[in-house]
Amino acid sequence: MIKIDKNWTLFLDRDGVINERIPKGYVMEPDQLVLEVAVADAIAEFNQLFARVVVVTNQQGIGKGLMTSEQLDTVHEKLRSELAASGAYVDGIYYCPELADSGSKCRKPEGGMAMQAKADFPEIDFSKSIMVGDTITDLQFGKRLGMKTIFIRTELEEQTAEVDELSDEIIDWLKDVLMVIS
Ligand SMILES: [Mg+2]
Repeated sequence: MIKIDKNWTLFLDRDGVINERIPKGYVMEPDQLVLEVAVADAIAEFNQLFARVVVVTNQQGIGKGLMTSEQLDTVHEKLRSELAASGAYVDGIYYCPELADSGSKCRKPEGGMAMQAKADFPEIDFSKSIMVGDTITDLQFGKRLGMKTIFIRTELEEQTAEVDELSDEIIDWLKDVLMVIS
């Protein structure tokens, strides 16, 4: 159990957490964005329980030239409108367009996107934050910043000893966050 109060911030990875991950590919068009089970209703509940909910997502498809940041914006507009249909919202969406081998400071596990969020919301306290993700780099990102971490199990990612080590909680769906916080 992770004990929270209304001052806490929830950081969410996107692919594999909010929407279905495309194996070895990228969500490049709004039509390719398919929300995971019960995500919008879960985020509507998180909006009541947390001070803010922010998305931090690596999107190197832009760095590879497979899509533009304008295309990604249209994907995120669709995400926001699908959430809004359930009365849910996210306070910010931060993405890192840079390549994995670029030495990027914004790409998870580096903390650049958390710093961007804190620049926009100075009240963010990383020690009162939870990072939810489906890869080891999400967990490393959270732990480096002093956050609590929740791992979402998928078929695409092995649950290694390192995952166990870096996770405060392990769940199957984003909505299950509600079962591991109090
Ligand atoms: Mg992911």
